[in-house]
Amino acid sequence: MTTASEQPAPTAWRQSLRRRLLTWFRRHARELPWRGTRDPYRVWVSEIMLQQTQVATVIPYYERFLEAFPTVADLAAATETTVLRHWEGLGYYRRARQLHAAANVVVSEYQGEFPRDLAAIRALPGIGRYTAGAILSIAFDQRQPIVEANTVRLYSRLLAYDQDPKAAPGERLLWEFAASLLPRKQVGTFNQALMELGSEVCTPRQPACEVCPLAVLCPTQAAGLQDQIPAMRKKAAVTAIRQACVVVRKADHVLLRQCGEDERWAGMWDFPRFDLVSQRGAALQSELREKVLTLTGVQIEPGNRLTTINHSVTRYRIQLTCYQATHRAGSPAANGMRWVRPSELPDYPLNVTARKISQRLVPSDSA
Ligand code: SF4
Repeated sequence: MTTASEQPAPTAWRQSLRRRLLTWFRRHARELPWRGTRDPYRVWVSEIMLQQTQVATVIPYYERFLEAFPTVADLAAATETTVLRHWEGLGYYRRARQLHAAANVVVSEYQGEFPRDLAAIRALPGIGRYTAGAILSIAFDQRQPIVEANTVRLYSRLLAYDQDPKAAPGERLLWEFAASLLPRKQVGTFNQALMELGSEVCTPRQPACEVCPLAVLCPTQAAGLQDQIPAMRKKAAVTAIRQACVVVRKADHVLLRQCGEDERWAGMWDFPRFDLVSQRGAALQSELREKVLTLTGVQIEPGNRLTTINHSVTRYRIQLTCYQATHRAGSPAANGMRWVRPSELPDYPLNVTARKISQRLVPSDSA
């Protein structure tokens, strides 16, 4: 069944939606640190941080980040390592690297003035259609639509669209619908109101239709189809894997390596880490020796297990066992590897599990 109409919604329906939504937003908008700003740099930072990340998680990061890099010029002037250190723990580190790269383009090609043209903004690293629409509408009040996770759900329900909204026909329909809703003025406020309603009222499960300002306009609510719209994609099956991390010690230093471009934590630093096959005994010792040598060019003598951390990354459930080891021979085979004192580890951007491991090293070393 596809109940959504391909025809544009009637003018009166759209006018009513705008009025109701803006009235509701004036009363119910949450106070968030990026609300009320028209500074495109601040809007941009908040939008990048909010991708796939909860508002409550983003707030302290956003505030610290802007304290460290108050302007796009400050961000461009920082090293990538410093930017990643400020992003550490927020995940999806590619976002931070692209933000930094884009800041450099804004400074070098646009004299630090954020471009106001859709094509120019979309040409910046890490800025897709949604982020460009959010920046242009919120910072410059341009009539640009937005479609992101919360509004996909809201639009699907307002259209009673029961097909996959992330497949090409659904995506096209939702972008057209979003564009058809835009008011002439206050476009940024309107777009933020849509996202707020999607996030706070039209939630994935049990949307609060009884307090929704759009309930009288909503065909999904009228048909009682909130549990079926939007159509959910099947989640990828979880895969369990085992990995090892090795803290290689040489005198009072440990070996760190920077993750390469094709690795999950590109640009971040880590202890040598790899998938593990062996369980114990000689086979385990031999696998640790061989894999550390292949990854780093350094020969080691494996030692005790330091800790085991269970964590999840995307669809992987990972059992990570960290071993200690002593340097036997050889120098790191490539750039992007360093012997560092444990007391220097706070200066390096590490992924979450490497940071946990590093915190176990500092007290014993500085004792
Ligand atoms: S009435 Fe319910 S389903 Fe419809 S938009 Fe509002 S919260 Fe979402």
